[in-house]
Amino acid sequence: MILRDEAFAIVDETLGVMRLPHEQVKTQAALMRRIVRDQHSRLDIPAFDRSAMDGFAIPAGDACERYRVLETVPAGTTPTKTLLPGTATKIMTGAAVPEGTARVVMVELAEESGTEVTFQRIPDTTNICSTGEDMARGDLVLAAGTLLGPLEIASLVSAGITEIPVGRTPRVAILSTGDELVDDPGLLTPGKIMNSNGPLLRCLCQRSGLEVVRCEKVADTLEATVSALTACLAEADILILSGGVSVGEFDFVPQALKRVGLTIHFDRLAVQPGKPTTFASSREKTVFGLPGNPVAVYLMFHLFVLRAVALLAGTRHEVCYRTAALGFDYSRKNAGRLAYVPCQLDRDGAIQRINYHGSGHLLALHRADGFFLVPQGGAKLSQGERVEFLSMRSGFE
Ligand code: AMP
Ligand code: MG
Repeated sequence: MILRDEAFAIVDETLGVMRLPHEQVKTQAALMRRIVRDQHSRLDIPAFDRSAMDGFAIPAGDACERYRVLETVPAGTTPTKTLLPGTATKIMTGAAVPEGTARVVMVELAEESGTEVTFQRIPDTTNICSTGEDMARGDLVLAAGTLLGPLEIASLVSAGITEIPVGRTPRVAILSTGDELVDDPGLLTPGKIMNSNGPLLRCLCQRSGLEVVRCEKVADTLEATVSALTACLAEADILILSGGVSVGEFDFVPQALKRVGLTIHFDRLAVQPGKPTTFASSREKTVFGLPGNPVAVYLMFHLFVLRAVALLAGTRHEVCYRTAALGFDYSRKNAGRLAYVPCQLDRDGAIQRINYHGSGHLLALHRADGFFLVPQGGAKLSQGERVEFLSMRSGFE
């Protein structure tokens, strides 16, 4: 068994040299893609001194009793007249302020009569957003490797960047191994179970912006596993298997991986759940053999598959741990592995126990806010102790 961090190092080293080809795409269509080069603003933001209020632009100098209104400037137009003492320009939010503007007085403080305006008072605030105050042309908007969510895409567009280079979307194949698996409850004869790992992995991939090219079941024979592996590797960059990686008599994945010429880098992990997690690769293909138990599948996808996806895009994906106080005394019999235990956080941020029967207990994850970590070798943790916590809100971001 190797340690989690040793396994990470192996994945990093193996995939650090692999890259998917780049392509140029419309920024708007790049949700969940990763940019492959630093992106610098093509614009000053704002591009001109603009009003933050609907109101009246007035010049510097002592306040006047009344001001003569020169013109009205809606957003999207530019003023034509320079402000002189005693004059004002009516201006809308987002419009360019006229030359000579010292401040914009909000419309709520103004009283207009004919071509003149008076103010209840003139506050000190300028209500002007000045050119380039958010970002100057040439400033870095996003660094290479950034994963693009809605805010990143909007930021690029606001900086005038409407096309970007991204890594090609990884193609993923999913193989759920197990003679016990069915997809239709009508076929649930004794001993059979529903195949939940297939849909779980498919949805996890889709949510992470990956293209699922195959998602199939495979029977527990060496021949079936080899032929399914071969077909998947012909189409996919990344293959994720579930089940069949343990030491049971019908676990054919390790043998099949070798048979199709893949190199197995590790196949035993000192993490609970997830012990039989297997990582293999060839020159261009990445394979994860995940355990059959769904909690392990869920966890290992986030720890390992997303890590691999980031590496293939030339960047890193580190899940974010924080610490939280344990709300109860914890003990376990076998302290041989680093454990991830599903748990809730209470209103005070303390970790609370949930009903959890072990790594087959998929339904426990609905009630979980995340996992707390029990270090390898640690059999007991005391209430109040601070432990590492991994939140699963919005996919372990
Ligand atoms: P295995 O690693 O193949 O021995 O599987 C471990 C456990 O996970 C067994 O109880 C399997 O029935 C269960 N399991 C395997 N594959 C799936 C799947 N696709 N969906 C749900 N449970 C599964
Ligand atoms: Mg099995």
